[in-house]
Amino acid sequence: MQEQERRGLLSVVLPAYNEEASVPRAAQVICGLLTGAGIAHELIFVDDGSRDGTWPAIQAQCLRFPQVRGVRFSRNFGKEAAIFAGLAQGAGDCLAVLDCDLQHPPEKLLEMYRLWQQGYQVVEGVKTSRGRENPLHTLAARTFYSAISSATGIDMSRASDFKLLDRRAVDVLLAMREKNAFFRALSSWIGFRTAQVEFQVQPRLEGQSKWSIRSLVRYAVTNLTSFSTAPLQLVTLLGMLVFLCSVLLGLRSLWQKFTGQALEGFTTVILLQLFIGSILMICLGIIGYYVAKIYDEIKDRPRYIVAERCGGGADDAQTEATL
Ligand code: UDP
Ligand code: MG
Repeated sequence: MQEQERRGLLSVVLPAYNEEASVPRAAQVICGLLTGAGIAHELIFVDDGSRDGTWPAIQAQCLRFPQVRGVRFSRNFGKEAAIFAGLAQGAGDCLAVLDCDLQHPPEKLLEMYRLWQQGYQVVEGVKTSRGRENPLHTLAARTFYSAISSATGIDMSRASDFKLLDRRAVDVLLAMREKNAFFRALSSWIGFRTAQVEFQVQPRLEGQSKWSIRSLVRYAVTNLTSFSTAPLQLVTLLGMLVFLCSVLLGLRSLWQKFTGQALEGFTTVILLQLFIGSILMICLGIIGYYVAKIYDEIKDRPRYIVAERCGGGADDAQTEATL
């Protein structure tokens, strides 16, 4: 880490899900930029089970640029899986991840690479603004990030998946066996010499965002529970609160009995039944969710399945399961 100007191969990982229009532009812009800057590089597109012409577009880029490679999943496994697949494929001394729709400005790669040359092992892209979004989305994102920040102890409010990592940091991430890996948080959690580069989220030029409200909620719950057991502690807290209420109400009922006013109070009984019943259901649900996650991990299925590869002399018809 001591040498001032280390040089090395930069692998750029680009997850792509239904991005046929963005792929050629991303390849052109990034190859042009890095070639111009004299940085040795390779691009790894990961087709996350797209239903449009993303894979033929990636194959075309492999023919056009020798430094482009492609990996195709057998189905949609989600962006996190795509990122990890790309990192596993990259041969670089440092590896960068950015969105294939170029909402993460590629020019920042040069700045990130310079920081890596100076010895930083984790270079994080932090958002100065979230780009154009509807207010509901912004509110939901803010709630999620404040929850995840307190769960991880890392300020995640401006975090993104736009990162450049040293080989060592990537090896550490790849060695983690957890299936619900949350790249954005894990890459900060691992520590190492970290630098930050600010960037503005660019407007999307082609296609549309792949996130529906449902997938965002699922993403938030999955990642929160993979980093925190606070919801389980909430169960205990609720239990104690309900116990406190029941002691107070118990004392009141006893007092009513001894003063001869015991007939009234059916409303209280009904309310209590409903209240305790629903709290119990919620708690069981939370515990059930964690049990389901343990079940998922214990099955030890692969994080993703690679169906095809292209570029870099890959055998196009290769089928394999990769952890
Ligand atoms: N993406 C992916 N798999 C998915 C969803 C998205 O690989 O299941 C990719 C997508 O192609 C893009 C990046 O993740 O390169 C960010 O997705 P998107 O632009 O839809 O998200 P947003 O920028 O709106 O947060
Ligand atoms: Mg985007």
